[in-house]
Amino acid sequence: MEQHFIPLSVPNFAGNERKYVNDAVVSEWVSTGGSLVPKFEQAIADYVHMPAAVACTSGTAGLHLALLAAGVGPGDEVLAPTLTFIAAVNPIRYVGAQPVFIGCGDSLCMCPTLVEEYLQAHAELRDGQCRNKATGAHIKALVVVHVFGNMASMEGIMDIAQKWNLVVVEDATEALGTCYTEGRYAGKFAGTIGDIGVYSFNGNKLITTGSGGMVVSNHPDWLAHAKHLSTQAKSDELNYKHDEVGYNYRMTNLQAALGLAQLEQIEDFIRHKIDTYNFYYEQLHGKHNYGIQPFRPGTRSNHWFYSLYVYDTHPMKRDEIIAALKAQGIQTRPIWGLIQDQADYPKNEAYGTDLARHYWERIVNIPCSTNLTRADAQRVVDVLLSL
Ligand SMILES: *Cc1c(COP(=O)(O)O)cnc(C)c1O
Repeated sequence: MEQHFIPLSVPNFAGNERKYVNDAVVSEWVSTGGSLVPKFEQAIADYVHMPAAVACTSGTAGLHLALLAAGVGPGDEVLAPTLTFIAAVNPIRYVGAQPVFIGCGDSLCMCPTLVEEYLQAHAELRDGQCRNKATGAHIKALVVVHVFGNMASMEGIMDIAQKWNLVVVEDATEALGTCYTEGRYAGKFAGTIGDIGVYSFNGNKLITTGSGGMVVSNHPDWLAHAKHLSTQAKSDELNYKHDEVGYNYRMTNLQAALGLAQLEQIEDFIRHKIDTYNFYYEQLHGKHNYGIQPFRPGTRSNHWFYSLYVYDTHPMKRDEIIAALKAQGIQTRPIWGLIQDQADYPKNEAYGTDLARHYWERIVNIPCSTNLTRADAQRVVDVLLSL
């Protein structure tokens, strides 16, 4: 019997999505005006315990706005992860700055020890500014990604940022709902600890608006500036006055309608992600040359994506495993190729990236949709154990 296809990660519209989107269409407020965008902004802000948030067209746009609001510009350098989706890095180039790539730790997130090592060896503080000793450039900011919903080591990152006077941009696009439960940042959500943070509502993220993003910040003036830039920097509604070069990055009312319906279900989605993760962990961790990567202790992770680690003792290579699963109708994928190997980024500096390459060669992301049934998760396990 032909078995049905099991996708890696698909949206789940089991709630009020149709109703709210339909209401928006009936109201004829479908574009960037309308009441639902501010409502969705406030709902996300409340969820992550921040006073306000600014909605935009994508996580990528949000990261662009975040760097602009932080004043990162031409000639600056920005420390960035190499093990990430490229959208965490490209906005650095949009503002005319250059990334310096830093490797990860076992959390798959940027490793604070490597950041400190890099800065000790290659940077100096001059008039309170962190300078790259080789290029002379101002290392102005650091972009940290909470990979697969796993909280980066924010204690370490924030200590370094303070010492070296770096702006911290949190790419929390994969980590909405992830928060510390213990320690210095207990109760704090990913995205709200650094200077400015960004969420994504792309179709494969925990909740989706089709495409969309959200910016939060501990600097109210930066957030206001991000909003201004997202709306063509229009300073006079009636007379179309624009006081700087802005962007058409504002979220639409239709997207916000979808987002509000999705946000109502976020805790159910996370519960489902955790249940499936625990099932995979019990069935696969330490079995048949597999490991399941953990999430950081002392946090409640949203468990967005699961990382199956394939030991070198496994009879099959990573790509053979992916192909064998595909032949059984199961979609998986390798982790992203290192950004230092992409586009024209090989020309940029990269430090301490061996472990990132190690994980890239050995990790497979396995099905994690919030509507994945236990029977389907069992099928994934059965096929993996048969290889
Ligand atoms: C999804 C994602 C983004 C970009 O979000 P979009 O909404 O797709 O533009 C940025 N960084 C990381 C790490 C992501 O996973």
